[in-house]
Amino acid sequence: MREKIVAGNWKMNNDLAQTEELLKGIKKQWENNPGVRVIVAPAFTNLYHAFDSLRETEVEVAAQNMNENESGAYTGEVSAAMLTSVGVKTVILGHSERRAIFKETDEVLAKKVDAALKNDMEVIFCCGEELEERKNGNHFDVVKQQLERGLFHIAPEAWKSVVIAYEPVWAIGTGETASPEQAQEMHSFIRKTISEKFGEEIANEVSILYGGSVKPANAEEIFAKEDVDGGLVGGASLKAEDFLAIVRAF
Ligand code: PGA
Repeated sequence: MREKIVAGNWKMNNDLAQTEELLKGIKKQWENNPGVRVIVAPAFTNLYHAFDSLRETEVEVAAQNMNENESGAYTGEVSAAMLTSVGVKTVILGHSERRAIFKETDEVLAKKVDAALKNDMEVIFCCGEELEERKNGNHFDVVKQQLERGLFHIAPEAWKSVVIAYEPVWAIGTGETASPEQAQEMHSFIRKTISEKFGEEIANEVSILYGGSVKPANAEEIFAKEDVDGGLVGGASLKAEDFLAIVRAF
């Protein structure tokens, strides 16, 4: 059975003191939520601290990115082995900000996916169209291409370590959310696309998260959709109360 997941993407927010504050808030209000995996993704500098601090809870820690190479002369970069050595077993790859601002191509993403899987990490693979692409009616093609070029080279058995996050770029940080129907339509398309290449069994087991202005007020109706298995939450994950309210929306 596929998992329900709520992941908080903290992006480039929170120094050490702010991270401590937010972790404290999460721990204070934390109730075990059977059946829902909860993940937070702080900046690299705070990963170990978050991992150590959250040991007493079931909250997991993910990285927001990593380099595709194993080690060596890549100044400023962080490898999969470095992440696993501080307790991080999950990495978000292909976030639209990485694609747009840092020019990560599908080709690089495919290598990052391989590096993560090789190091026994789980991948949260992000895809999603820009506003113009949706307006032109190209959103299905764009998402399909992102999946085919960045992810579909993996072996069938690797799918147990993959989660997909559909994040329409026009809904990220804009306050504008895809309607539950728009989310369901794309999630079902993604599942169908996976099914066509890897079979129905694998497609039915993959968790597909929605991201883009998820907040306590809209989480419940989005999560209620058949093919929406949770959320990747940016802004609203920076407040413990809001984040945990989203977790409880299931
Ligand atoms: P948002 O960000 O919730 O602030 O829209 C989501 C994301 O970028 O993962």
